[in-house]
Amino acid sequence: MSKSPEDALKVIQSHAEGVLQSDLWKILGVDSRKCSRLVKKLLDDGLVERIEFRKDGIKTFVLKAVRCPVDPSLILAGDELIPCIACDLECKAEECPRLLDWMYQLAISEAEK
Ligand code: SF4
Repeated sequence: MSKSPEDALKVIQSHAEGVLQSDLWKILGVDSRKCSRLVKKLLDDGLVERIEFRKDGIKTFVLKAVRCPVDPSLILAGDELIPCIACDLECKAEECPRLLDWMYQLAISEAEK
């Protein structure tokens, strides 16, 4: 199956410390030339950064996803911050009364716009 830049980005994003380009093409199951094209697209779009790295004396690159700042409007319901930030509960999001209350607030604040 053909791999897209989005497939490569998902792999890179799943490695917080970055992934070696020399490993990425193996993970994706594509050849190194195809991998280079996928990486170039992600670099051109500003979605990843590439840092030179030497492994066993051979030059390769570490690829890291560029972190995008969070849009504050996505974590606020009116003035109320989403409760998941700094939450130390064992998360069961589908049953969480804090999250449900916040979503109720969100619905109200959206309706008031
Ligand atoms: S959904 Fe509820 S339990 Fe899960 S992180 Fe958010 S506030 Fe905490």
